Amino acid sequence: MRIKKEGNYMYKVMAVNAGSSSLKYKLFEMPEEKVLCSGVADRIGHEDGIFVIKYDGKKVEETLPILDHTRGVELVLQALTKYGIVKSLDEIKCVGHRVVQGGKYFSHSAEFDADTEDKIDMLTPLDPLHAQAHLLGYRAFKAAMPNVPAIAVFDTAFHQTMEPEDYLYPIPFEYTEKYDVRRYGAHGTSHNYLANKGVKDYGAKRIISCHIGSGSSLCAIADGKCVATSMGLTPLGGVMMGTRTGDMDPSVMDYLATCTGKDVHELYNIFNKKSGFLGMTGISNDTRDIEDAVHKGNERAIVASKVFARRIADTIGSYFVRLGGADLIIFSAGIGENAPYFRKLILDDIKEALGLVIDYEANEKARGIEMVISKPESKIKVVVIPTDEEVMIARDCYTRIVNGRI
Ligand code: ADP
Repeated sequence: MRIKKEGNYMYKVMAVNAGSSSLKYKLFEMPEEKVLCSGVADRIGHEDGIFVIKYDGKKVEETLPILDHTRGVELVLQALTKYGIVKSLDEIKCVGHRVVQGGKYFSHSAEFDADTEDKIDMLTPLDPLHAQAHLLGYRAFKAAMPNVPAIAVFDTAFHQTMEPEDYLYPIPFEYTEKYDVRRYGAHGTSHNYLANKGVKDYGAKRIISCHIGSGSSLCAIADGKCVATSMGLTPLGGVMMGTRTGDMDPSVMDYLATCTGKDVHELYNIFNKKSGFLGMTGISNDTRDIEDAVHKGNERAIVASKVFARRIADTIGSYFVRLGGADLIIFSAGIGENAPYFRKLILDDIKEALGLVIDYEANEKARGIEMVISKPESKIKVVVIPTDEEVMIARDCYTRIVNGRI
């Protein structure tokens, strides 16, 4: 059923983010961008899986076996009719899937067909953590709703506008050519959302967006397009994160292999999952725990926080140069949206060089809400903007439907 409103048809579309053990979902009514429900099938593969659905201000949570993604999708679709969110699943006109790595193949979103499936499969070595999980999520929805078109929205696509001098690594060129080794970046859907907001709502031409959460990346944006980003071949690159090292001298790998007897795969795993805040402090990957520890005087938490802030400050400085100045600095994601303590650490590192005048009261207040945290006399406006990757996926679905592209 299509309902016409103000010259536009309204459609329900589903945004999906399938990980290896979780499947997050959000159902939108477009073009209003109204969220009809959202939730997660979590602990997939376990007898004590967790299924959550939020709708109409209510939240239902159940613990039950969710042994695979297919079961997770079944639970989502059953819940939609069970709680009266849709009368029939036919109302859903498109399913948009978040995909982390689009490699050299995708500079835009794509219809999720057999060709897209093959390419994502081929990209698995570049994203062993997510690629197969995305495919599991896609196949589970396809099996349950075979006639509903699906699209893939790639985290890397927004970064495909970078120039070679921004994305090439100085390694033997044959490796670049033969194995497609280069900077791809990640979090592109979030940076794209923030870029749109920065241009539309703040009139900014030169934007530095800081998506800092458990994974963190920065992006330099000129006229709404990415010119540089901090994550690299994989999301391990760039600034320090919850459990990831970010950039460091590549010889650390060889040296530690010699010292510890561990092989490259073990060390790679440690750099991905046991480093960052978790590795430096031995406390947690979560900055809420780190902040508590800082307030109790924990030396390692204090120095880790400073390293984290310094890496981000250095990247902001280099993007300021790359963009020939900046009009807007955006903080977003788990830490960027909710942690005044870490924003202050970062801003105090850059404020003198960049002529920032921070409104510290506003910085304290800005928790999960959009708010300007610089004073009018600041040379660059600084703003907190909650990101919304799902709405970008929903917009993509909607545009394709109304343009007849799916
Ligand atoms: P992801 O989507 O990559 O899982 P998020 O962007 O949601 O990550 O960020 C999650 C992280 O944000 C948490 O691990 C924690 O470090 C940080 N975070 C979330 N809320 C707060 C808060 N209120 N104060 C400080 N840090 C927070």
